[in-house]
Amino acid sequence: MGKIQMVDLKSQYLRLKPEIDNAIEDVIMSSAFINGQPVKNFASNLEEYLECKHVIPCGNGTDALQIAMMALGFIPGDEVLVPSFTYVATVEVIALLGLKPVFVDVDPDTFNIDTEDLKKKITPNSAGIVPVHLYGQCANMESIIQIAGDNDLKVIEDTAQALGANYTFSNGKVQKAGTIGDIGTTSFFPSKNLGCFGDGGAIMTNDSDLADLLKMIANHGQKVKYHHDTIGVNSRLDSIQAAVLNVKLKELDDFAGRRRQVADKYDAAFKDNDLIKTPSRSEQSTHVFHQYTLILDKSIDRDKFKEDLAEKGVPSMIYYPLPVHLQKAYNNYGFKEGDFPVSEELSNRVISLPIHTEMREEDQSIIIDAVLNTIKDHVR
Ligand SMILES: *Cc1c(COP(=O)(O)O)cnc(C)c1O
Repeated sequence: MGKIQMVDLKSQYLRLKPEIDNAIEDVIMSSAFINGQPVKNFASNLEEYLECKHVIPCGNGTDALQIAMMALGFIPGDEVLVPSFTYVATVEVIALLGLKPVFVDVDPDTFNIDTEDLKKKITPNSAGIVPVHLYGQCANMESIIQIAGDNDLKVIEDTAQALGANYTFSNGKVQKAGTIGDIGTTSFFPSKNLGCFGDGGAIMTNDSDLADLLKMIANHGQKVKYHHDTIGVNSRLDSIQAAVLNVKLKELDDFAGRRRQVADKYDAAFKDNDLIKTPSRSEQSTHVFHQYTLILDKSIDRDKFKEDLAEKGVPSMIYYPLPVHLQKAYNNYGFKEGDFPVSEELSNRVISLPIHTEMREEDQSIIIDAVLNTIKDHVR
């Protein structure tokens, strides 16, 4: 009996071991470690799964965002609208390319970009919007696509946390997260919903010209070897990682089902407690529960709560303790406390519980009891 962990990658591996080991061994025997057949197969397998015309594998989810912004022709000074409550990677690439991050607050229920605030932040310099499907649930894509269309903006969906989620438009049309905007990006970091055994990422688009450009930029700006038409980067998915992903992609919907089962059980256990708010579920999007994130009541001391859980053997994480506009690295953009009140409030009150594909019932019971008992202690 191991310790309870936030994610249990080892048990998942053991369940899929024979197939994964064979796939890895095949790559080693072929010695085609870069751009081998598994990479090509994975791109087409993911295209088929997402019902998306083009998937371009790359080195990681951060590269995917950078390559997407390069391909869309954003130039220094262009403004890119991005939620202030996200993982730093989304903002980092905007800054690295000399673009200007324009933060948008998030919706207090879904944690995703607030489309009313988004409208207010658009200027003649706006070039694009990067909605982040945080924790595994799609942002309000119907509004975002509408706003982007009205203002001639490009949309890059950061799908690192929501691969496999379905979004339903009001006309009944269903699309997979990452295939709705001009470009979608994702990450195969080991703990993501579809994770490999190292770094990996991918870029999705239905636009064939854009796909050519994305492929070229990811490969040193060349279409023909040693002929460089544009400045590019070197960002590749290794064959071994692709081989692992080919096995795991077949399980992705099952993975989401297992995560959802854990979430349902947490929801049921916590629903009557006024001091913890369980994750809202959007009517438009399925939730693949990359994270299961509670909002604690203002009266609860979160640091102490987290410590007390740890003492009971229950790990937890804060995603994310400081919104990006208040990070030291982004000081020069001149934001201050109070600028994005919802993001700031969430940063102070969220806490994520263990959720993964291999959760054992007894472990989840321990977690639930620990949460409820700790809450009780804090009220007293
Ligand atoms: C993980 C993540 C990324 C970055 O992916 P890497 O593969 O680690 O570069 C980007 N955006 C979000 C929202 C993420 O969760």
